Amino acid sequence: MEFCKNKLKLKLDFVNDFDLEKQARDLGIKIWQTPSFLFIVFGVTAVIIMLATYFISKNYESPEVLVIAECLVVVVVFIVEMLVNKFIVQLTRLNKMKSEFVSIASHQLRTPLSAIKWETELLLTKFKKGLDKKQLKNIENIYSINQRMIRLVNDLLDVARIDQNRLILIKQKVDFLKIVEEVMEEIIPKAKLRNIEIEIDTKKELPMVVGDKEKVQIVVENLFDNAVKYTNSGGKIRVKISKNKQYLEFEIKDNGVGIPEEQIGRVFEKFFRSDNATRYQTEGTGLGLYIAKNIVEQLGGKIWFKSIENVGSVFSFSLPISR
Ligand code: ADP
Repeated sequence: MEFCKNKLKLKLDFVNDFDLEKQARDLGIKIWQTPSFLFIVFGVTAVIIMLATYFISKNYESPEVLVIAECLVVVVVFIVEMLVNKFIVQLTRLNKMKSEFVSIASHQLRTPLSAIKWETELLLTKFKKGLDKKQLKNIENIYSINQRMIRLVNDLLDVARIDQNRLILIKQKVDFLKIVEEVMEEIIPKAKLRNIEIEIDTKKELPMVVGDKEKVQIVVENLFDNAVKYTNSGGKIRVKISKNKQYLEFEIKDNGVGIPEEQIGRVFEKFFRSDNATRYQTEGTGLGLYIAKNIVEQLGGKIWFKSIENVGSVFSFSLPISR
């Protein structure tokens, strides 16, 4: 059964590979620029060259003609190779430019966003007395929208760093339980607003792990954020931290919307959002898990999950215990 399923999937993948229109739409390019179109052109060229060589060598018996024909084949293959090479260099350059643009734009956006943060914080603390209820509510809204933008810009910066192999993690001894508790303090009020219960199961004494405090916090925040975001009101989230050989494992289980079976393989892809999640929750970028996976793996850990649509999800990751 499993074998038939895999065979069918392979066949479907193969058919999809030659759906030129779909590929052009997905990649945002013209049909003649799609890799499959180029593949077909190269294939046809190779066949023509082979046939031409065959007929030339058949009709002319002299070795000179054969040598010339072979030289021509080599020249054609060489030209094709050069074209492909040029194309790849161009693509790599474009990809690099895109990452640099995202990186520069995010850096530039951070300064004004931080300024808005400080100003609104000042209004909400020092000048709070001079504000009426409605004004206070408006400023609180500005503050939380600004926080969301700061998070988005930080995510984009991290993605650009990952793409350029420049995500630097400072490996140090980290108190993992403390990070989880700090994140929970922030997330519990949000969960309560939607009547979602959060329960934690852990020992009080846990070994330190190898991590980068700020980045590990990002991973934990992302998983908590998703669990709350994709769980219906009245739902339940269970967190478990346990020791498994040389690793500390974190597990977060929810009874939310889950992920459709056919999309499970794409969850850690950059910008991926499942169809049901997009319908259920418009807010989201599809960057959180991509960043989390890169951070965890760079720290020597692993990240994985199980999910069933309309039943729930369990996301887990491990980090090496510090010696
Ligand atoms: P997003 O900003 O969309 O939440 P993520 O990278 O954090 O981006 O997650 C990628 C996608 O994985 C989500 O859009 C959603 O489809 C799916 N997903 C992640 N966590 C959960 C969860 N706990 N329950 C259901 N779906 C989830």
